[in-house]
Amino acid sequence: MAYDNDNIFAKILRGEIPSDKVYEDDWAYAFKDISPQAPVHVLVIPKGPYQNMEAITRDGSDAEIGGFFRAIAKVAELSGVTDGGYRLIANNGEDGNQEVPHLHYHLLGGRNMGRMVKRFGI
Ligand code: 5GP
Repeated sequence: MAYDNDNIFAKILRGEIPSDKVYEDDWAYAFKDISPQAPVHVLVIPKGPYQNMEAITRDGSDAEIGGFFRAIAKVAELSGVTDGGYRLIANNGEDGNQEVPHLHYHLLGGRNMGRMVKRFGI
């Protein structure tokens, strides 16, 4: 499916919708989730027009992919969660319940995050 230039995160990247910025560099933009699920809940997105993991690994340059992952680690450091630990989640596609069609990693921390997912079948 083609990238939707009008998705909410594309509008945030263009500055058309306000966001609470945490970090920005050439490759990535990070901002606080509007509906936080933990004391620290930051979304980290690549600046390029990538809908999901398939798109960025197919079409992104090594510099974009590397820069994006370094930015995620930088955001964890800036958020003060590297000592206590944190969780990264990328909901990807339909079964992943991805709501916004621009690749994003949720960085969650500031408390123990509990089990990752329910056991299959429970
Ligand atoms: P997904 O379900 O796609 O993995 O996560 C989308 C996330 O984006 C949700 O956690 C939701 O709270 C967040 N979100 C949706 N719209 C906005 C917005 O306009 N601003 C911000 N900061 N977060 C948003």
